[in-house]
Amino acid sequence: MLFSKFFAPTSKDVPADAKIVSHRLMLRSGMISQTASGIYCWLPLAVRVLEKISKIICEEQDEIGGNRVYFTTIQPADLWIESGRYDVYGKEMLRLKDRKEGEFLYSPTNEEQATDVFRKYVKSYRGLPTLLYQIHWKFRDEIRPRFGVMRGREFLMKDGYSFDIDFDSAKKTYEKVFKSYLKIFRRMGLTPIPVQADSGAIGGNMSHEFQILAETGESALYYDKKLLSASDDELMTTFAVADEKYDPKTSTVAEKDLAVSRGIEVGHVFYFGTKYSKSMNAFVLNEKGEKIFPEMGSYGIGVSRLVAAIIEASHDDRGIIWPESVAPFDATILNLHLKNEKCREAASEIYAAISSKKEVLYDDRDVTVGEKLADADLIGVPWQIIIGQKKIENGVVELKNRKTGEILEISPSEVIGRFLN
Ligand code: ATP
Ligand code: MG
Repeated sequence: MLFSKFFAPTSKDVPADAKIVSHRLMLRSGMISQTASGIYCWLPLAVRVLEKISKIICEEQDEIGGNRVYFTTIQPADLWIESGRYDVYGKEMLRLKDRKEGEFLYSPTNEEQATDVFRKYVKSYRGLPTLLYQIHWKFRDEIRPRFGVMRGREFLMKDGYSFDIDFDSAKKTYEKVFKSYLKIFRRMGLTPIPVQADSGAIGGNMSHEFQILAETGESALYYDKKLLSASDDELMTTFAVADEKYDPKTSTVAEKDLAVSRGIEVGHVFYFGTKYSKSMNAFVLNEKGEKIFPEMGSYGIGVSRLVAAIIEASHDDRGIIWPESVAPFDATILNLHLKNEKCREAASEIYAAISSKKEVLYDDRDVTVGEKLADADLIGVPWQIIIGQKKIENGVVELKNRKTGEILEISPSEVIGRFLN
C-alpha cells in the first residue's frame, strides 16, 4: 500500500474531550472519525485492525465448533415481545417503525433471534450441541457514551449463542468458550483476567467477564497476584472480584498477595439455562420423544472496544505499539529522500519483494523527514524500514523495532531475507 494513496488522515491536534490515550491516538492516527455522540466511522487503518481481531476470533471459535452466521441488525419487535424483554430493555434500545407502522428495533444483542433460528431448524436432540456466532454491529443508546469507541452507541461485537441438551453439556460448552476466550485475548498480546460477573435478574451462577488491565479502565479489580500466572483450568475457579463486590472481611487472599488494578471489560460469557428456550417455545425431542428445552448460554466480545483496549495496553508517548497479530501492517517503509535515486531504488526493491508475503505500507508521501518518522511511530506498525541518503550510500538501511526502539543497520537484501523467511 502506498501511503500517498492511503486514507489515513493523521494529525497533531485532538479535541479536548478526548480524555484517554486510546481515543487521542485513534483520532491522531486517522483511524476513526466521529459522526455523532458515540457513533464513529472506521477509516482504513482501523478497518485493518478490526479485521485482524475478527480473524483471530473466528479461527478460535471455529476450532471449538462454532458456526459463523450473520443475524440481522434490524429485528421485529415481536421476537422481543415473545421473550418478554421488549418492555424491560428500556431506553438503551433504539426502536424503529417501518412504512407500515410495524415495530422494529436495532439489535442491542441477539438472544431472541438466535433462539428463533434454532427453533425453526433444530427439532431433535441429534442437532445438539449447537453454537452459532456472528461479528456484527450493535446499537445501544448508552446514557453516557465516552472514551471514543470504548463505550460507543454503535459498536462491533462478536456474539455467540449455545444450545445444549442438559446442564452438564451446557457447562462443558461454557468451559470450552471460556478457554477459547483466554486464547483469543492472548493471541492479541493481552493478559485476560476473568472476573466473576453478576448474572443479573436471569439467575444461574455461571457468568464471567474478561477484563484486561489498564489504568483507564472503568472498573477496579481485586485479585490474587498468582492469577497472572495461573493455568486456564485454575482461571475458571480463581478470578478477580470487582470493587463493588469486594469485601476485605470475607476475602481469602492474604494481604501480601492482593493486587488492585483497573480493568477494561473486553468479553463476557454467560450461562442462563432455559430462559429463552422456554419463553420462546424452542424445544427438541429427546430419544424417548419427550420435549426438552435446551440449556443456553451467550458469549460476547467487544471487537471495536478491543481496538481501543489494545492501544491502552500497548503505547508510549510517541504513539501506538501494535502487537504483530493485530497490526494494520506488518512493516512500513520510510523513504526519507524521495528525490534521491538510490533511496528510491532501495525502497522500490524492498517494497516489491516483501509485499508478496507481508502487508507493507510504503511511505512515499512528499512530506518532511520529521513528519514521516513521527507518523510511523504514531501509527505503530511493528517494523520500520528506514531508507536515508547517507546510509544507502554505505549500502545499508535501518530496520527499527517499534516496540523496543532497537535499530539494525543491514543491507536491503538482508531486510528482504528477514521478511520473506
Ligand atoms: P458494559 O458493562 O461495559 O456496559 P455489558 O455488560 O453491557 O458491558 P455485554 O452485553 O456483555 O456488555 O456485551 C459484550 C461485550 O461488548 C462487552 O464485554 C464489551 O466488551 C462490549 N460492549 C458492551 N457495550 C459496549 C459499548 N457501549 N461500546 C463498546 N463495546 C461495548
Ligand atoms: Mg452495557
